[in-house]
Amino acid sequence: MALTRIGLAGLAVMGQNLALNIAEKGFPISVYNRTTSKVDETVERAKREGNLPVYGFHDPASFVNSIQKPRVIIMLVKAGAPVDQTIATLSSHMEKGDCIIDGGNEWYENTERREKAMVELGLLYLGMGVSGGEEGARNGPSLMPGGSYEAYKHIEDILLKVAAQVPDSGPCVTFIGKGGSGNFVKMIHNGIEYGDMQLIAEAYDVLKSVGNLSNHELQQVFSEWNKGELLSFLIEITADIFGIKDDKGDGYLVDKVLDKTGMKGTGKWTVQQAAELSVAAPTIASSLDSRFLSGLKEERVRASKVFQSGDFSDILGGQPVDKAKLIEDVRQALYASKICSYAQGMNLIRAKSIEKGWDLKLGELARIWKGGCIIRAIFLDRIKKAYDRNPELPNLLVDPEFAKEIMDRQAAWRRVICLAINHGISTPGMSASLAYFDTYRRESVPANLVQAQRDYFGAHTYERPPETIVFRSRLPDIT
Ligand code: NAP
Repeated sequence: MALTRIGLAGLAVMGQNLALNIAEKGFPISVYNRTTSKVDETVERAKREGNLPVYGFHDPASFVNSIQKPRVIIMLVKAGAPVDQTIATLSSHMEKGDCIIDGGNEWYENTERREKAMVELGLLYLGMGVSGGEEGARNGPSLMPGGSYEAYKHIEDILLKVAAQVPDSGPCVTFIGKGGSGNFVKMIHNGIEYGDMQLIAEAYDVLKSVGNLSNHELQQVFSEWNKGELLSFLIEITADIFGIKDDKGDGYLVDKVLDKTGMKGTGKWTVQQAAELSVAAPTIASSLDSRFLSGLKEERVRASKVFQSGDFSDILGGQPVDKAKLIEDVRQALYASKICSYAQGMNLIRAKSIEKGWDLKLGELARIWKGGCIIRAIFLDRIKKAYDRNPELPNLLVDPEFAKEIMDRQAAWRRVICLAINHGISTPGMSASLAYFDTYRRESVPANLVQAQRDYFGAHTYERPPETIVFRSRLPDIT
């Protein structure tokens, strides 16, 4: 057997599919997995899917030695300790100039620690975010490689072919930046994904609970939305989900799925980073809180008996809901909320980039998210253009085009949230987005009082424009 061009270790959902994708693009690949049955399974699958050049190995030494030098190995194993264990297994067989790429959802500081350790061994290291799930990995993901630029150059030709291809925008990959920037950007991508999913779920809740739309009507509404400014992978799959019948009984599957959302950690990391960086990300935080609250199913069942839904007819004035108007209002509220959520995500990336000196290009990130990944959407093109117009944009909200779009949708956005409140339906993501907008757009906020309180009890001082000096109040007379 001739030497292969690249290796991949870790053959669960992501690794197996990415290996087949790489092979299909014409790059012979060696594969390895701790549990060797997955190696055989992958090789069998490669045969079935067109005799793809995938070569399996059961021991790490022959796996590493089967790859041409300088060797490049992508790891797709569980984040954390398994990555350290896999590096230890592989690196002992590798030589100076070889390169390891972690394609998992890894905490960015772990990548920075490992990159330093690899430098000691003369090895190169990349932390590469891979988005798009199983289907993306197989047919074209969005790739976010960060770390050693030299390592990136070793496999740029492969990544350019393996990534999703978007007409007029090119392959969904770019060298993100130094250190753990690739993992950090992927983490924020996931945080934005949490926000998108929460906002869509709230749109569904209002349409279903207030508008009484059936699953069939919801499918039609979301399909229609997917033809306009909301066109995106998540809206498309949501429309599909409303059409799936329950194969174990009557009705639709969506109504049988338990209302408890799982999570793996990237949303939590995003919110933790928002706090660390002092960047407001209330829409993303509310989507995480909603997952926490969804997990309290048994408590919610008990609470629903204590706080039975009241009669809100006096608040609502007995007005019947105009379905067509509600659908259009919810569409606009969803779009306006989404702008706020992306503004928060982008500001998190910018703040980290400044802190770490990564020099990340926000418009370029929007470009590589246009295809392959879970948040892919036509909307990302607008974000790219906003940063092309002004790379120093302090907030997406003040881009002239987004500002106009928000202004045009304000009335509908407020109507939907008021309606939801009056019906006792929570819309934490939409409400957090609107509060973000309403706080950001106001020249004066009540922070003067909070600062006065801080000074009153803690002598924390306050500013008093137009003077630039910092004042400190006299101790209050307590009588
Ligand atoms: P996973 O379930 O996260 O991990 C399973 C893989 O890790 C298997 O190959 C397993 O080997 C290996 N592994 C676990 N512990 C190990 C250890 N101590 N030593 C060596 N190998 C070990 O797989 P995945 O869902 O394909 O995800 C891989 C990575 O991509 C993760 O970081 C994940 O967060 C990220 N990711 C996943 C998705 C997705 O949709 N699934 C999307 C984007 C990114 P064995 O077979 O021997 O147990």
